[in-house]
Amino acid sequence: MKLNTDFFDDRENLENIAEKIIFTGPIDKYYDYKFGELEYRSLRFESEILEEQNHQGNAVVNYTEYEVPYTRIIEHKHFEFDTESPKTIITKEYPDSWNKEKEPYYPVNDEKNNNLYQKYVAISKENNKVIFGGRLGSYKYYDMDKVIMEALNLVKQEL
Ligand SMILES: Cc1cc2nc3c(=O)[nH]c(=O)nc-3n(C[C@H](O)[C@H](O)[C@H](O)COP(=O)(O)OP(=O)(O)OC[C@H]3O[C@@H](n4cnc5c(N)ncnc54)[C@H](O)[C@@H]3O)c2cc1C
Repeated sequence: MKLNTDFFDDRENLENIAEKIIFTGPIDKYYDYKFGELEYRSLRFESEILEEQNHQGNAVVNYTEYEVPYTRIIEHKHFEFDTESPKTIITKEYPDSWNKEKEPYYPVNDEKNNNLYQKYVAISKENNKVIFGGRLGSYKYYDMDKVIMEALNLVKQEL
């Protein structure tokens, strides 16, 4: 097993040693963006330490109002059992535009991008050595339970 290795840094070697590849990176990058780049939405995070024991009483609060510039506040201590500290750390999430230097958080599943994705799916069917999976390989937003279900279904199909 090789960890901390970018597939694209050692692509030729990795493709030669593997009988099957499960690729969970961006499908358009795998094909060197030959049909064009798929678009994403990104996020910007701002964290702060607050001099209060409890800011929002919950790990996650979503904000949907147009006037509020962030989409949610995470208060990290509520993921843990110990909430006694007199301080608390919160992170505000702001929507951000995306470019290839940034993390591709959410796919933009509009008609243009879905059509482009289908072109990559079509060429992926020509090579059954590579299985594309997960949120980047399938260009689809999945919650964690859904992505695990997708992985289990893929395994069933393959075995
Ligand atoms: C901002 C945000 C908030 C979310 N909040 C929730 C939530 O509250 N609840 C919930 O259920 N789900 C949430 N999700 C969804 C959850 O994160 C996904 O369901 C899950 O991460 C998808 O798993 P995955 O394996 O498809 O993708 P990832 O977790 O992204 O895993 C892909 C893997 O492929 C590897 N990889 C990619 N490219 C390469 C490469 N070139 N070389 C080597 N390795 C590579 C990556 O390192 C990574 O380990 C959220 C997602 C986002 C983006």
